[in-house]
Amino acid sequence: MATTTRGNLFILSAPSGAGKSSLIKALLEKHSDVQVSVSHTTRQPRPGESNGVHYHFVTVDEFKALIDKGDFFEWAQVFENYYGTSKQAIESQLAAGIDVFLDIDWQGARQVRELVPDVETIFILPPSRDELERRLNSRGQDSQEVIAGRMAQATSESSHYNEFDYVLVNDDFNTTLAQLESIVLAARLRQNRQAQRHAALIAELLAE
Ligand code: 5GP
Repeated sequence: MATTTRGNLFILSAPSGAGKSSLIKALLEKHSDVQVSVSHTTRQPRPGESNGVHYHFVTVDEFKALIDKGDFFEWAQVFENYYGTSKQAIESQLAAGIDVFLDIDWQGARQVRELVPDVETIFILPPSRDELERRLNSRGQDSQEVIAGRMAQATSESSHYNEFDYVLVNDDFNTTLAQLESIVLAARLRQNRQAQRHAALIAELLAE
C-alpha cells in the first residue's frame, strides 16, 4: 500500500500578463491535491480581489511586524509594495501531502531555493512583446502609466527566466496548462518521492 508522502513545493514565476494567475486557477480546478499559497501584500486590493482568498492584505507596519517575528518563509519588495509567503501558508498543506504552488517573483524564488533545494521552479513567458502589451491593456484595471511601468518591469522580470528549472511559453492556454500538469506529475514520480511512497513495495520486491 502506498504511504502518504509530503507534498511537493513548486514556484511559478512570470512577468505580469504572462497568464500565470489563470493557469494556476485552472490547475487548481482540475487537481484537488494541488493548492496555491495565499501571500501577504501591502498593495491595495484590485476589484474582485478578497482578503484571505487572493492575498492577505496588510499595512506596511503589519508586514514589517511579521518580518520581525520571523513569520515569513520568503518576502520581497516587488514594484513599490511588499509581498511575502508566510511559513503558516505552506507548512500544514505540505505536511498533509498536498502539492503547493508559490506564485512569487524571482527574488522570492532565490530565497526558497536556498531553503528547499528540491523545489521545482517554473517560469512562464508570454508569446511576444506585443501580446504581453495587449494582455496588460485588456485588463482595464490599471492606468496607462501603471501599464508602461509593468512593461518595463516585465522585461526585467523576464531576464531571470534562466534561473528556473522549466520555461513555458504561454501561447495556447490549454497547451501550457497540459505542460504544467506534466511537470507536477513528473515531480511526483521522482525516485526519492516514489521510494518513500512505495517503501513497503520496494522492501518486498528487494527482499532476498
Ligand atoms: P500582483 O500585484 O500583480 O498580484 O503581483 C505582483 C508580483 O508579485 C507578481 O510577480 C507576483 O508573483 C509577486 N508576488 C506575489 N506574492 C508574492 C510573495 O509572496 N512573494 C514574492 N516574492 N513575490 C510575490
